[in-house]
Amino acid sequence: MNIKSSTPFPTAALIGGEWVTSKKTFPVLDPATGDKLADVPDLTPDDAKRAIDAAHQAFPAWAAKPAKERAQILRKWYDLIIAESEALAQLMTAEQGKPLTESRGEVAYGASFIEWFAEEGKRAYGHTIPTTVASRRYVTIKQPIGVCAAITPWNFPIAMITRKVGCALAAGCTIVVKPSEETPLCALALAKLAQDAGVPAGAFNVITTLDSPAVGKVLTADDRVRKLTFTGSTEVGKILYRQCADTIKKLTLELGGNAPLIIFDDADLQQAVAGTMASKFRNAGQTCVCANRILVQAGIFDKFVAALKEAAGKLVVAPGRDAKSTVGPLINADAIEKVKSLLSNAVSQGAKVEMGGKPDDHGALFFSPTVVTGVTADMTIANEEIFGPVASLIRFETEADAIRIANNTPFGLAAYLFSQNVSRAWRVAEALEAGMVGVNEGVFSNEVAPFGGIKQSGLGREGADEGLNEYLETKMICLGGMNA
Ligand code: ADP
Repeated sequence: MNIKSSTPFPTAALIGGEWVTSKKTFPVLDPATGDKLADVPDLTPDDAKRAIDAAHQAFPAWAAKPAKERAQILRKWYDLIIAESEALAQLMTAEQGKPLTESRGEVAYGASFIEWFAEEGKRAYGHTIPTTVASRRYVTIKQPIGVCAAITPWNFPIAMITRKVGCALAAGCTIVVKPSEETPLCALALAKLAQDAGVPAGAFNVITTLDSPAVGKVLTADDRVRKLTFTGSTEVGKILYRQCADTIKKLTLELGGNAPLIIFDDADLQQAVAGTMASKFRNAGQTCVCANRILVQAGIFDKFVAALKEAAGKLVVAPGRDAKSTVGPLINADAIEKVKSLLSNAVSQGAKVEMGGKPDDHGALFFSPTVVTGVTADMTIANEEIFGPVASLIRFETEADAIRIANNTPFGLAAYLFSQNVSRAWRVAEALEAGMVGVNEGVFSNEVAPFGGIKQSGLGREGADEGLNEYLETKMICLGGMNA
């Protein structure tokens, strides 16, 4: 790896302030080339327990620090990330594959959570409550939940960590993070910068492992871990939810989606195409809020298909480090196989590939931007996350049809609609079963707005004031004998 940063980024794990290596390691690969970038420790369930010990030990002192002091440390962490943003972006592109422009965007987006929560931690207000009895007074105070565990995915290797860790630390919690085995280097780099910023030993630990199920069991079984925050597939989310039952942990689950993106006849065509492109092809289609089903009303269908093909034809498939790249590789061979199989299944049931539809010559993990029409709501491609650069179009007739099709899924993360009619936009936004709705917008996630899903897309919210609350407990104090 040839990345210029002021200090080299670590390839060891961080437990209790110590950089930990192990005899057993696993390689981190560049998905664009298959080249090995580094070896990182393949830690064990015992190491996970040591990380919990460290977080447990660090908790009382970190929780007791005035919020303002925690905020100053977090602000320093933010500043260090910004100072290293170009090196972090290059590291992200190397291990995750996304185009450099997107990596730069993610570093800024990821850092924004730390900046936001550094401020927001100072505002963990309780209430005073008008009394029911003359001799009593009631107040609530907010206290950190305690030791937290985070399990994070590979598609946003920085933002999915800062969104959890920035918030946990601001609230006064300590945390153990298990990053995805595909993208551990960004997590370790963040931990190094946090350490440099003065986050104390044990407050933020990172354990790298290939044995996620075994480490996950330790993190979920330990009673000292009071909260689990997970971003990943619904399948793994369900396993972790069950595992947390025995110790009644608090949970934030950011799981899969099956986002509908609805284009009505009265949409602004250019706006609809730009929004669809941003929602669909960002990160090569590998986000849980990517438009998975593009529902297009009959009156605008042909015009929209033509305009979308024109826009998708301008995408540049290339390794993310290439300045011209707008679509990088998918993360691994399974991802390519999944896209291929969803497409061939759809085509066998009557869908039509309008463009793309096949792997790209740049390397084993590249796939051409694809537009497919003739998709129906019962096809597998309309019911599973594609997680690839494939725009899958369903034609519909009426507003009621669109709402029915959009909501006919167990998922409810993001939804999008395009219409210039404000009454329709409001009516449909209210009717969509989703935690987040973009109206005439294809990308909306940021630090000030709550992110999260309903139905099987998850529990809780990240970012915003609601995000901070997820790491706090409310304690009611009743002060009696006041008129004695
Ligand atoms: P994706 O399909 O996006 O890779 P996963 O849900 O498989 O989503 O992975 C998200 C995170 O969950 C990763 O860090 C992965 O290592 C971890 N993971 C996968 N299986 C388990 C498990 N059984 N227990 C705990 N963590 C797991």
